[in-house]
Amino acid sequence: MTRRIVLLLFILISIIACGPLDKHKAPHEIHVAIQPYGDFPKEWAQQVAQNIRKVYGFKAEVLPGRSLPKTAFVQTKSPRYRGDSLLRDLKKHKPKSFDYIIGLTVKDISTTKYENFKLKIVKKPESKYQDWGVFGLGYRPGVASIISTYRLKTPSEKRFKDRLNKISMHELGHNQGLDHCPSHNCVMEDAAETIRTIDRVQLKLCPECQKKLE
Ligand SMILES: [Zn+2]
Ligand SMILES: [Zn+2]
Repeated sequence: MTRRIVLLLFILISIIACGPLDKHKAPHEIHVAIQPYGDFPKEWAQQVAQNIRKVYGFKAEVLPGRSLPKTAFVQTKSPRYRGDSLLRDLKKHKPKSFDYIIGLTVKDISTTKYENFKLKIVKKPESKYQDWGVFGLGYRPGVASIISTYRLKTPSEKRFKDRLNKISMHELGHNQGLDHCPSHNCVMEDAAETIRTIDRVQLKLCPECQKKLE
């Protein structure tokens, strides 16, 4: 009888210990790894790290470069790498000491565009959205995101860097649980398939999104 009580107590304590006591980390305790793929320019990777430190107050560190996994390559409409495969690759190779990992590539990346919460392709024609080119991709919530500079090209270096900063901030927002935001200046606004949205929004979260993170 006493033995049974001890066992029950032990189980109860174990449940409490692994349960909801998971401490909420302060921003400076959150570590973000920046993973450049292939010949992604070091300077751009450093810039993404610097921006993450500035906008979120997290620690960010650029990892040594890695080759893009061949298994992620597809050639449907044009040569591309599947974003979902890259997210799996990043998650698998994320060093344990990091909370999040952001992959960076100059190659085009794609995903299948589904309707929210449904395994149904978003619009017709299905072939168009089956392999849809994107600026970036990150699960909500999640630990990994991937950004491609392929569709960010512009003659203005300043604008290019601004786009890269906004998209990495946006995808890391998704990883932290933020959904798309209806506010027209917020970095979490849905790009709705156009780079013009990225150029229009500000490099910051609206007060609503900010509050959700706190
Ligand atoms: Zn988004
Ligand atoms: Zn917002």
